[in-house]
Amino acid sequence: MYGFLQLCADRRFHRLTMLEFERITGLAANEYWIEARAGGAPSWSDNSKTSRYAYGEGARYMGWAGHGDHCGGFPGVSNEEMRQKVERAMKSRAEEFPQAEHIALFAHGGGVEVVARTAPRGTPE
Ligand SMILES: [Zn+2]
Repeated sequence: MYGFLQLCADRRFHRLTMLEFERITGLAANEYWIEARAGGAPSWSDNSKTSRYAYGEGARYMGWAGHGDHCGGFPGVSNEEMRQKVERAMKSRAEEFPQAEHIALFAHGGGVEVVARTAPRGTPE
């Protein structure tokens, strides 16, 4: 079982987000792909080449992350709005990668929250 995590490049939160993703999924650091840029998961309006590759290679835990406390990718956007953006991004990607379990992660000064989570679909009973 592999995973994929898309997150913001922010120096304060990338490592914390990765560690929480590992804790939740049980994946080791070398069992999932990452993709990072300013703004995190909400900054991609569509899925990415890297996420499609990871899914094709067997990623079945997919994390979609962002953070609050001022994200350089979304200047002036509040924590609550960022939380909602992360959740919306996860729901869009969950439609596109139906065989994976999706986790929306939101990091801020208080830690890393699981905002939403789906069960895997399209798997045999
Ligand atoms: Zn950021």
